[in-house]
Amino acid sequence: MCWWDFQESSKNGHEELTLYEFKTLIDELATFRPRLTITGSEPFMRKDAPEILEYIHEKRLTVDCIMTNGILMSEKIAEAIVKVSPGIVQFSIDGDEDVHNHIRRMKGAYQRTVRGIEILKSAIEHDGKCERIGIRLNCVILPQNVHCLNSVAELAKELGTQLQFQYLMWLDRDRINLHQSFMRNKLEFNDKNICNLYSNLDGLDLEMLEEQLAEIKRFCNKNGTPLFFMQFSDQVAIRRWYSDLNFIPRRKCLEPFLVSRIDAKGNVKFCPLIDYSYGNVKDAPFNVLWNNRKSLKIRSLLKKQRLFPGCIRCCKL
Ligand code: SF4
Repeated sequence: MCWWDFQESSKNGHEELTLYEFKTLIDELATFRPRLTITGSEPFMRKDAPEILEYIHEKRLTVDCIMTNGILMSEKIAEAIVKVSPGIVQFSIDGDEDVHNHIRRMKGAYQRTVRGIEILKSAIEHDGKCERIGIRLNCVILPQNVHCLNSVAELAKELGTQLQFQYLMWLDRDRINLHQSFMRNKLEFNDKNICNLYSNLDGLDLEMLEEQLAEIKRFCNKNGTPLFFMQFSDQVAIRRWYSDLNFIPRRKCLEPFLVSRIDAKGNVKFCPLIDYSYGNVKDAPFNVLWNNRKSLKIRSLLKKQRLFPGCIRCCKL
């Protein structure tokens, strides 16, 4: 499997891949017949994203999922998405309209996402691919949106989409320090990104979360809205995820053995959290990077350790 960031916000290191470089990479990846997930920060900030999708389609690669905020959705983008026929197109929604706009720091963001979903739905219906392409709202449960999760379920019903809840990836200072010192000692890697996970979960009301989720399960059941929980749906596990860092849902990670992530600049990574790169596709072919010294070191370390200290709140567990 391959995760692909079409666009990213970091300005360091290499320039973003050009359309030509993307196509060359697609040619190279095609020989592995990977299953692709396309993400960003926001993939459609790249103006040539439709051309890239077109080329992926031409090479007959499988796209499992496209993740977007939907704000830039247009007829042209929707048609390109329909062509590659992803299993799921996932739209991020952070709560009701006010909460979503507040978290996104953008007036009108919610309405633009809803409009984006409608544009895509109509392109899918026009092409007769309703059975093949699922549209899913994805909501990360945060202290700020616990009181209005039910409104996301109502939106899913209104739009006729699937609904998924994801848990916040968070760590306390002690765990961040432990992870950083581990990475420095074992990989000589200064993992600054892990600090972004710091949260004291201020304002999180766990009673309210449980009530909301119970109500949402009843609501979705009654209305036939497909409901998914990333990782687990058990109430006790959800409570412990947010209250007890000794709770670890799974004791090992297989991502570096099965998955590769290529960012918009061509850096090849193994992980959504740890910003450690094996190298760049502008400097070496993908198949060389996949099995180079750095990637083998990560795998052998993970085989021994089973998890890195910062892994305990990763969505891949
Ligand atoms: S569990 Fe750890 S190694 Fe695996 S993907 Fe998550 S952060 Fe990366």
